[in-house]
Amino acid sequence: MSRPLHSRSSRVKTTKCAATGKRRYRSEIDAKIAKMGMSSERSLKAERRVYECRACRGFHTTSQTVEEYKADQIAKKRARELRAGE
Ligand SMILES: [Zn+2]
Repeated sequence: MSRPLHSRSSRVKTTKCAATGKRRYRSEIDAKIAKMGMSSERSLKAERRVYECRACRGFHTTSQTVEEYKADQIAKKRARELRAGE
């Protein structure tokens, strides 16, 4: 009988993003609500930001900072350019 009191999950509807495999929120507000719930549940992997996904036109949460995200995008772009140049 050790069921946690805060086991209720947020009632935000999500679908799955085909491009990223992440949970997709219909609106930025939904994602922010979910983010708040997540950060209180697991402080170890705090979702820091909500961003709009160009692939699915939905919103995702991420633990990356804006700087980390940009660095990641640049790295991916460079990798694509390298492959295209071969
Ligand atoms: Zn997406």
